[in-house]
Amino acid sequence: MKLRGHHLICLQFFKGKGYSKDFVNNAKKWVEFWESNSAEIVKNADDICSLCPFLKNGRCNHPGYKVDEIDELALTLLGLKTGDRVRKDFVKKYFPKIFKEWREKACKKCEWKKICLPQMDNIT
Ligand code: SF4
Repeated sequence: MKLRGHHLICLQFFKGKGYSKDFVNNAKKWVEFWESNSAEIVKNADDICSLCPFLKNGRCNHPGYKVDEIDELALTLLGLKTGDRVRKDFVKKYFPKIFKEWREKACKKCEWKKICLPQMDNIT
């Protein structure tokens, strides 16, 4: 399983919503898989992007996100790098240490924040 930097964090809050039916079904499959397997961190498109309507020629074309920057931010905050293998539980346990900065820098312009931010409100 391959995941890009910001998906390590965003998938912690996945609630079955997404850009299309195929996207959601694919994301559900990989989130479940990640529960009991490690993911390899990659640069650029990953297994979640693979069925995303914004993926064009192997690159993210979402007009609203600077994905490379938020990938880098996620890895810096989590102390990880491309090529590392990481379990979902590791990110879940680590996230309370970094969520204020993540929320401030990454979530503000995200179209999915209505789903994630209420869940982050429960983090103390
Ligand atoms: S919007 Fe971009 S980063 Fe997000 S899943 Fe689609 S291709 Fe990947």
